[in-house]
Amino acid sequence: MSHSPAMQGFDGIAGQQLPLRILRHFISSGSIPHAMLFTGIEGIGKRTLARRFAMALHCGAPQSTIEEGPHEVTRPCGRCRTCHQIAAGTHPDTIEIGPRKGMLRIDQIRNLLGVLAMKPFGMGRRVVILTDAQTMNQEAGNALLKVLEEPPADTILILTAAQRTDLLPTISSRCRHIRFSPLNFDELSALLEREHGMAAEQARALAQLADGSVTRALRLSEAGWRQRRDWMLRASGLDRPQLLKARPATVSLAFSARLAQCKESIENDLELLKGWIRDLGIWPYAPGYAMNGQCDELLAGARSGLSENQLSALWEALEHAQKCIAANGNLRLTLDVMALQMTEILAA
Ligand SMILES: [Zn+2]
Repeated sequence: MSHSPAMQGFDGIAGQQLPLRILRHFISSGSIPHAMLFTGIEGIGKRTLARRFAMALHCGAPQSTIEEGPHEVTRPCGRCRTCHQIAAGTHPDTIEIGPRKGMLRIDQIRNLLGVLAMKPFGMGRRVVILTDAQTMNQEAGNALLKVLEEPPADTILILTAAQRTDLLPTISSRCRHIRFSPLNFDELSALLEREHGMAAEQARALAQLADGSVTRALRLSEAGWRQRRDWMLRASGLDRPQLLKARPATVSLAFSARLAQCKESIENDLELLKGWIRDLGIWPYAPGYAMNGQCDELLAGARSGLSENQLSALWEALEHAQKCIAANGNLRLTLDVMALQMTEILAA
Protein backbone atom coordinates (compact mmCIF):
# COMPACT_ATOMS: atom_id res chain seq x y z
CA MET A 1 0.00 0.00 0.00
CA SER A 2 1.58 3.27 -1.05
CA HIS A 3 -0.13 5.53 1.46
CA SER A 4 -3.02 5.17 3.83
CA PRO A 5 -6.44 6.49 2.81
CA ALA A 6 -6.36 8.69 5.93
CA MET A 7 -3.69 10.81 4.28
CA GLN A 8 -5.87 12.10 1.51
CA GLY A 9 -8.36 14.35 3.20
CA PHE A 10 -11.98 14.87 2.30
CA ASP A 11 -11.52 14.90 -1.45
CA GLY A 12 -9.56 11.68 -1.87
CA ILE A 13 -12.57 9.48 -2.56
CA ALA A 14 -12.71 7.79 -5.93
CA GLY A 15 -15.91 7.72 -7.88
CA GLN A 16 -18.22 9.33 -5.32
CA GLN A 17 -18.33 12.86 -6.62
CA LEU A 18 -22.05 13.36 -6.05
CA PRO A 19 -22.18 12.26 -2.38
CA LEU A 20 -19.02 14.29 -1.81
CA ARG A 21 -20.57 17.41 -3.32
CA ILE A 22 -23.73 17.00 -1.24
CA LEU A 23 -21.74 16.61 1.98
CA ARG A 24 -19.54 19.60 1.18
CA HIS A 25 -22.64 21.60 0.57
CA PHE A 26 -24.07 20.61 3.96
CA ILE A 27 -20.89 21.82 5.63
CA SER A 28 -20.52 25.02 3.64
CA SER A 29 -24.17 25.99 4.12
CA GLY A 30 -23.94 25.27 7.83
CA SER A 31 -27.02 23.09 7.71
CA ILE A 32 -26.18 19.46 8.28
CA PRO A 33 -29.06 16.97 8.60
CA HIS A 34 -29.33 15.24 11.99
CA ALA A 35 -29.46 11.88 10.28
CA MET A 36 -28.19 10.64 6.95
CA LEU A 37 -28.43 7.30 5.23
CA PHE A 38 -25.65 6.26 2.84
CA THR A 39 -26.72 3.42 0.55
CA GLY A 40 -24.93 1.35 -2.07
CA ILE A 41 -23.21 -2.02 -2.54
CA GLU A 42 -20.42 -3.06 -0.17
CA GLY A 43 -16.95 -1.67 -0.57
CA ILE A 44 -17.55 1.57 -2.47
CA GLY A 45 -16.59 4.09 0.20
CA LYS A 46 -19.68 4.67 2.35
CA ARG A 47 -17.88 4.24 5.67
CA THR A 48 -14.74 5.92 4.37
CA LEU A 49 -16.70 8.98 3.33
CA ALA A 50 -18.56 9.03 6.66
CA ARG A 51 -15.18 9.09 8.42
CA ARG A 52 -13.84 11.81 6.14
CA PHE A 53 -16.95 13.81 6.86
CA ALA A 54 -16.23 13.51 10.59
CA MET A 55 -12.64 14.60 9.83
CA ALA A 56 -13.91 17.64 7.95
CA LEU A 57 -15.87 18.62 11.06
CA HIS A 58 -13.16 17.88 13.61
CA CYS A 59 -9.74 18.26 11.99
CA GLY A 60 -7.39 20.17 14.25
CA ALA A 61 -5.25 21.54 11.45
CA PRO A 62 -7.21 22.09 8.24
CA GLN A 63 -4.58 23.33 5.85
CA SER A 64 -6.47 24.58 2.90
CA THR A 65 -9.94 25.36 1.76
CA ILE A 66 -12.00 24.19 -1.18
CA GLU A 67 -14.09 26.72 -3.05
CA GLU A 68 -17.68 25.58 -2.98
CA GLY A 69 -19.98 28.07 -4.60
CA PRO A 70 -20.04 31.22 -2.53
CA HIS A 71 -18.70 29.35 0.51
CA GLU A 72 -15.51 27.64 1.44
CA VAL A 73 -15.14 24.24 3.03
CA THR A 74 -12.04 23.48 5.05
CA ARG A 75 -10.14 20.45 3.90
CA PRO A 76 -9.14 18.08 6.71
CA CYS A 77 -5.40 17.49 6.84
CA GLY A 78 -5.64 13.70 7.23
CA ARG A 79 -2.46 13.88 9.32
CA CYS A 80 -3.24 15.45 12.69
CA ARG A 81 -3.98 13.49 15.84
CA THR A 82 -7.73 13.95 15.40
CA CYS A 83 -7.75 12.77 11.80
CA HIS A 84 -5.69 9.71 12.75
CA GLN A 85 -8.02 8.92 15.64
CA ILE A 86 -11.02 9.10 13.37
CA ALA A 87 -9.38 6.86 10.76
CA ALA A 88 -8.53 4.37 13.51
CA GLY A 89 -12.00 4.51 15.04
CA THR A 90 -10.73 5.86 18.38
CA HIS A 91 -11.86 9.48 18.29
CA PRO A 92 -14.08 10.19 21.34
CA ASP A 93 -16.64 12.24 19.41
CA THR A 94 -16.76 9.99 16.37
CA ILE A 95 -18.56 6.87 17.44
CA GLU A 96 -18.55 3.92 15.08
CA ILE A 97 -20.82 0.95 15.58
CA GLY A 98 -20.99 -2.08 13.32
CA PRO A 99 -22.61 -5.52 13.41
CA ARG A 100 -21.32 -8.18 15.79
CA LYS A 101 -21.60 -11.69 14.38
CA GLY A 102 -23.65 -10.31 11.55
CA MET A 103 -26.09 -8.27 13.62
CA LEU A 104 -26.44 -4.83 15.17
CA ARG A 105 -27.81 -5.70 18.57
CA ILE A 106 -30.13 -4.01 21.01
CA ASP A 107 -27.41 -3.69 23.67
CA GLN A 108 -25.19 -1.83 21.21
CA ILE A 109 -27.97 0.67 20.56
CA ARG A 110 -28.68 0.96 24.30
CA ASN A 111 -25.00 1.72 24.93
CA LEU A 112 -25.18 4.36 22.24
CA LEU A 113 -28.22 5.96 23.88
CA GLY A 114 -26.23 6.09 27.12
CA VAL A 115 -23.31 7.84 25.43
CA LEU A 116 -25.58 10.29 23.62
CA ALA A 117 -27.22 11.26 26.91
CA MET A 118 -23.87 12.82 27.86
CA LYS A 119 -22.30 15.90 26.35
CA PRO A 120 -19.69 15.53 23.59
CA PHE A 121 -16.08 15.43 24.83
CA GLY A 122 -14.84 18.26 22.67
CA MET A 123 -16.27 21.52 21.45
CA GLY A 124 -17.52 20.26 18.12
CA ARG A 125 -20.30 18.06 16.94
CA ARG A 126 -20.50 14.38 17.60
CA VAL A 127 -20.71 12.00 14.65
CA VAL A 128 -22.20 8.54 15.04
CA ILE A 129 -21.53 6.10 12.20
CA LEU A 130 -23.77 3.04 12.20
CA THR A 131 -22.55 0.63 9.55
CA ASP A 132 -24.67 -2.09 7.94
CA ALA A 133 -27.78 -0.68 9.56
CA GLN A 134 -29.82 -3.28 7.68
CA THR A 135 -28.59 -5.86 10.20
CA MET A 136 -30.59 -4.24 13.02
CA ASN A 137 -33.51 -6.32 14.14
CA GLN A 138 -36.82 -4.66 14.97
CA GLU A 139 -35.99 -4.32 18.66
CA ALA A 140 -32.71 -2.51 17.95
CA GLY A 141 -34.40 -0.43 15.26
CA ASN A 142 -37.08 0.73 17.66
CA ALA A 143 -34.45 1.74 20.20
CA LEU A 144 -32.62 3.73 17.53
CA LEU A 145 -35.86 5.39 16.54
CA LYS A 146 -35.82 7.29 19.83
CA VAL A 147 -32.60 9.01 18.76
CA LEU A 148 -34.05 9.86 15.36
CA GLU A 149 -37.26 11.23 16.81
CA GLU A 150 -35.51 13.46 19.32
CA PRO A 151 -32.02 13.98 17.97
CA PRO A 152 -29.59 15.10 20.68
CA ALA A 153 -28.07 18.53 20.06
CA ASP A 154 -24.80 18.58 18.13
CA THR A 155 -25.08 14.98 17.07
CA ILE A 156 -25.03 13.76 13.49
CA LEU A 157 -26.04 10.21 12.77
CA ILE A 158 -24.82 8.45 9.63
CA LEU A 159 -26.30 5.07 8.77
CA THR A 160 -24.92 2.90 6.00
CA ALA A 161 -26.89 0.14 4.28
CA ALA A 162 -27.10 -1.66 0.97
CA GLN A 163 -30.54 -0.33 0.11
CA ARG A 164 -32.99 2.09 1.60
CA THR A 165 -35.70 -0.56 1.57
CA ASP A 166 -33.59 -2.79 3.84
CA LEU A 167 -34.46 -0.53 6.77
CA LEU A 168 -37.65 -0.01 8.69
CA PRO A 169 -39.55 2.80 6.93
CA THR A 170 -39.84 4.64 10.25
CA ILE A 171 -36.04 4.85 10.28
CA SER A 172 -35.26 5.52 6.62
CA SER A 173 -37.93 8.23 6.39
CA ARG A 174 -36.13 10.22 9.08
CA CYS A 175 -32.77 10.17 7.30
CA ARG A 176 -31.49 12.26 4.41
CA HIS A 177 -30.79 9.63 1.78
CA ILE A 178 -27.51 9.76 -0.14
CA ARG A 179 -26.88 7.17 -2.85
CA PHE A 180 -23.41 5.82 -3.64
CA SER A 181 -22.75 4.30 -7.05
CA PRO A 182 -20.56 1.31 -7.83
CA LEU A 183 -17.20 2.47 -9.18
CA ASN A 184 -16.80 2.20 -12.93
CA PHE A 185 -14.04 0.06 -14.39
CA ASP A 186 -11.55 2.91 -14.90
CA GLU A 187 -12.09 4.41 -11.45
CA LEU A 188 -11.73 1.06 -9.77
CA SER A 189 -8.63 -0.11 -11.62
CA ALA A 190 -6.97 3.30 -11.13
CA LEU A 191 -7.76 3.18 -7.42
CA LEU A 192 -6.31 -0.32 -7.05
CA GLU A 193 -3.09 0.85 -8.69
CA ARG A 194 -2.87 4.13 -6.81
CA GLU A 195 -3.98 3.17 -3.32
CA HIS A 196 -3.09 -0.49 -3.20
CA GLY A 197 0.07 -0.54 -5.26
CA MET A 198 -1.15 -3.12 -7.75
CA ALA A 199 0.39 -3.62 -11.16
CA ALA A 200 -1.80 -2.35 -13.99
CA GLU A 201 -2.52 -5.82 -15.32
CA GLN A 202 -3.67 -7.18 -11.98
CA ALA A 203 -5.69 -4.04 -11.21
CA ARG A 204 -7.51 -4.36 -14.53
CA ALA A 205 -8.24 -8.04 -14.05
CA LEU A 206 -9.60 -7.51 -10.54
CA ALA A 207 -11.61 -4.46 -11.57
CA GLN A 208 -13.33 -6.62 -14.20
CA LEU A 209 -14.33 -9.19 -11.60
CA ALA A 210 -15.29 -6.94 -8.73
CA ASP A 211 -18.48 -5.30 -10.04
CA GLY A 212 -17.48 -1.83 -8.92
CA SER A 213 -16.61 -2.74 -5.32
CA VAL A 214 -13.17 -2.01 -3.85
CA THR A 215 -13.72 -4.45 -1.00
CA ARG A 216 -14.56 -7.19 -3.41
CA ALA A 217 -11.50 -6.50 -5.53
CA LEU A 218 -9.27 -6.66 -2.46
CA ARG A 219 -10.86 -9.87 -1.31
CA LEU A 220 -10.22 -11.40 -4.72
CA SER A 221 -6.64 -10.20 -4.64
CA GLU A 222 -6.03 -11.59 -1.16
CA ALA A 223 -7.26 -14.93 -2.36
CA GLY A 224 -4.20 -15.05 -4.61
CA TRP A 225 -6.46 -14.93 -7.59
CA ARG A 226 -3.93 -15.92 -10.20
CA GLN A 227 -2.79 -19.16 -8.61
CA ARG A 228 -6.36 -19.91 -7.72
CA ARG A 229 -7.51 -19.20 -11.25
CA ASP A 230 -4.87 -21.45 -12.75
CA TRP A 231 -5.85 -24.27 -10.44
CA MET A 232 -9.56 -23.69 -11.09
CA LEU A 233 -9.06 -23.79 -14.84
CA ARG A 234 -7.02 -26.98 -14.72
CA ALA A 235 -9.26 -28.72 -12.21
CA SER A 236 -12.47 -27.75 -13.96
CA GLY A 237 -11.00 -28.70 -17.34
CA LEU A 238 -11.98 -25.32 -18.78
CA ASP A 239 -8.38 -24.62 -19.78
CA ARG A 240 -8.72 -27.39 -22.41
CA PRO A 241 -12.46 -27.93 -22.77
CA GLN A 242 -12.01 -30.28 -25.74
CA LEU A 243 -10.62 -32.90 -23.35
CA LEU A 244 -13.68 -32.59 -21.13
CA LYS A 245 -15.77 -34.53 -23.60
CA ALA A 246 -14.17 -37.77 -22.53
CA ARG A 247 -13.86 -36.88 -18.87
CA PRO A 248 -15.14 -39.53 -16.45
CA ALA A 249 -17.75 -38.36 -13.94
CA THR A 250 -15.43 -39.29 -11.06
CA VAL A 251 -12.94 -36.62 -12.16
CA SER A 252 -15.68 -33.98 -12.32
CA LEU A 253 -16.88 -35.00 -8.89
CA ALA A 254 -13.37 -34.84 -7.47
CA PHE A 255 -13.21 -31.24 -8.68
CA SER A 256 -16.52 -30.31 -7.06
CA ALA A 257 -15.49 -32.04 -3.84
CA ARG A 258 -12.33 -29.89 -3.64
CA LEU A 259 -14.29 -26.74 -4.40
CA ALA A 260 -16.81 -27.52 -1.67
CA GLN A 261 -14.00 -27.64 0.89
CA CYS A 262 -13.48 -23.86 0.69
CA LYS A 263 -16.89 -22.47 1.38
CA GLU A 264 -15.52 -18.97 2.08
CA SER A 265 -13.98 -18.61 -1.34
CA ILE A 266 -16.70 -20.25 -3.36
CA GLU A 267 -18.20 -16.98 -4.52
CA ASN A 268 -14.83 -15.78 -5.80
CA ASP A 269 -14.08 -19.17 -7.36
CA LEU A 270 -17.26 -19.19 -9.38
CA GLU A 271 -16.63 -15.57 -10.42
CA LEU A 272 -13.19 -16.61 -11.68
CA LEU A 273 -14.75 -19.34 -13.80
CA LYS A 274 -17.38 -16.95 -15.10
CA GLY A 275 -14.63 -14.49 -15.96
CA TRP A 276 -12.96 -17.18 -18.02
CA ILE A 277 -16.20 -18.07 -19.82
CA ARG A 278 -16.81 -14.40 -20.50
CA ASP A 279 -13.31 -14.06 -21.95
CA LEU A 280 -13.86 -17.08 -24.20
CA GLY A 281 -17.04 -15.42 -25.43
CA ILE A 282 -15.46 -12.08 -26.33
CA TRP A 283 -12.09 -13.47 -27.44
CA PRO A 284 -12.81 -13.68 -31.20
CA TYR A 285 -14.20 -10.13 -31.24
CA ALA A 286 -12.36 -8.06 -28.66
CA PRO A 287 -9.33 -9.91 -27.26
CA GLY A 288 -8.01 -6.63 -25.80
CA TYR A 289 -10.87 -6.65 -23.28
CA ALA A 290 -10.20 -10.10 -21.93
CA MET A 291 -9.39 -9.99 -18.23
CA ASN A 292 -7.26 -13.10 -18.64
CA GLY A 293 -5.57 -11.61 -21.68
CA GLN A 294 -2.14 -12.71 -20.52
CA CYS A 295 -3.25 -16.32 -21.13
CA ASP A 296 -3.80 -15.62 -24.81
CA GLU A 297 -2.65 -18.98 -26.17
CA LEU A 298 -4.74 -20.87 -23.70
CA LEU A 299 -7.77 -18.69 -24.45
CA ALA A 300 -7.39 -19.08 -28.19
CA GLY A 301 -6.97 -22.85 -27.89
CA ALA A 302 -9.92 -23.26 -25.54
CA ARG A 303 -12.16 -21.09 -27.67
CA SER A 304 -11.53 -22.94 -30.90
CA GLY A 305 -13.52 -26.03 -29.96
CA LEU A 306 -16.49 -24.28 -28.38
CA SER A 307 -19.76 -22.97 -29.77
CA GLU A 308 -21.47 -19.87 -28.45
CA ASN A 309 -24.37 -22.04 -27.28
CA GLN A 310 -22.01 -24.09 -25.19
CA LEU A 311 -20.54 -20.94 -23.67
CA SER A 312 -23.99 -19.62 -22.74
CA ALA A 313 -24.90 -22.98 -21.24
CA LEU A 314 -21.70 -23.02 -19.17
CA TRP A 315 -22.37 -19.49 -17.97
CA GLU A 316 -25.90 -20.47 -16.96
CA ALA A 317 -24.71 -23.54 -15.09
CA LEU A 318 -22.32 -21.33 -13.08
CA GLU A 319 -24.95 -18.68 -12.41
CA HIS A 320 -27.46 -21.29 -11.36
CA ALA A 321 -24.96 -22.70 -8.87
CA GLN A 322 -24.27 -19.20 -7.51
CA LYS A 323 -27.98 -18.62 -6.98
CA CYS A 324 -28.45 -21.94 -5.19
CA ILE A 325 -25.51 -21.21 -2.91
CA ALA A 326 -26.71 -17.67 -2.20
CA ALA A 327 -30.08 -19.17 -1.24
CA ASN A 328 -28.28 -21.46 1.23
CA GLY A 329 -28.72 -24.58 -0.89
CA ASN A 330 -26.61 -27.63 -0.15
CA LEU A 331 -23.10 -26.63 -1.22
CA ARG A 332 -21.70 -30.04 -2.10
CA LEU A 333 -24.78 -31.12 -4.02
CA THR A 334 -24.96 -27.82 -5.90
CA LEU A 335 -21.31 -28.06 -6.96
CA ASP A 336 -21.58 -31.74 -7.93
CA VAL A 337 -24.51 -30.95 -10.18
CA MET A 338 -22.68 -27.96 -11.64
CA ALA A 339 -19.54 -29.99 -12.41
CA LEU A 340 -21.54 -32.77 -14.08
CA GLN A 341 -23.57 -30.27 -16.08
CA MET A 342 -20.39 -28.65 -17.36
CA THR A 343 -19.06 -32.00 -18.61
CA GLU A 344 -22.37 -32.76 -20.25
CA ILE A 345 -22.52 -29.37 -21.98
CA LEU A 346 -19.06 -29.93 -23.43
CA ALA A 347 -19.85 -33.49 -24.54
CA ALA A 348 -22.87 -32.30 -26.53
ZN1 LIG B 1 -6.55 16.79 10.61
